[in-house]
Amino acid sequence: MNVVVLQDDDFVGSGSRVRLTGRRAEHIRQVHRVQLDDELRVGRLNGDLGTARITVLTDDAVEMNVTLDCPPPPALPVTLLLALPRPKTLKKVLQAATAMGVKDIVLMKTWRVEKSFWDSPVLQESGLREQMLLGLEQAGDTILPRVTLRRRFKPFVEDELPALIRNARGFVAHPVASSPCPRAVGGPVVLAVGPEGGFIPYEIELLAACGFEAVSLGTRRLRVEHAVPALLARLF
Ligand code: SAH
Repeated sequence: MNVVVLQDDDFVGSGSRVRLTGRRAEHIRQVHRVQLDDELRVGRLNGDLGTARITVLTDDAVEMNVTLDCPPPPALPVTLLLALPRPKTLKKVLQAATAMGVKDIVLMKTWRVEKSFWDSPVLQESGLREQMLLGLEQAGDTILPRVTLRRRFKPFVEDELPALIRNARGFVAHPVASSPCPRAVGGPVVLAVGPEGGFIPYEIELLAACGFEAVSLGTRRLRVEHAVPALLARLF
């Protein structure tokens, strides 16, 4: 936790006083090992970054006075379309993508996504939020990504994707594609990443018909949680 992300109900009394209990208070005491009057880096969820001075330190609570004066780091201009991975992988990808600055994530059904993955508690709003908060705390960011779920691939690609890629380049990550993934493209990108078993040819064709270029990182098949950061690092 490089930055403590504060939420509205952490604030008490006048605008700048904060009281934390639970996981974050414990982390501040045991990992940051703060003393009274020490300063910590903090940020307000969906707001600015700044510092906090510790004013009260007890066994179960930490209180501090915060000054928020610095905007969060810029976001990556990317929409990440992710075939819904297994829950353990989803947690890792959400944390990594959030830490790298992704603000728009679409979790979608593809042919090789296992049906049972849609029942995972990680997919509930609180589950998604928990993982993304860890990513924000890691990276020193405050803006929570938006996650949408699309359980039907074809209508999503045909009805919604054309508008999404109108002003962006669309890439579908596919190990056997003949084009290498381009480097530092800069501009807005929509990036599609497949499930553990990969996209089926029909899905690649549908995406191509919508304007997506199939791109590869080479013959080594990477796990989804490694492919996503590798692709983002290459594209931006
Ligand atoms: N067995 C699958 C691999 C799936 S890996 C196959 O051969 O297609 C899961 C997803 O991660 C892939 O669908 C792709 O989107 C991405 N990925 C993994 N390794 C990649 C690579 N070398 N190049 C491009 N994308 C890759």
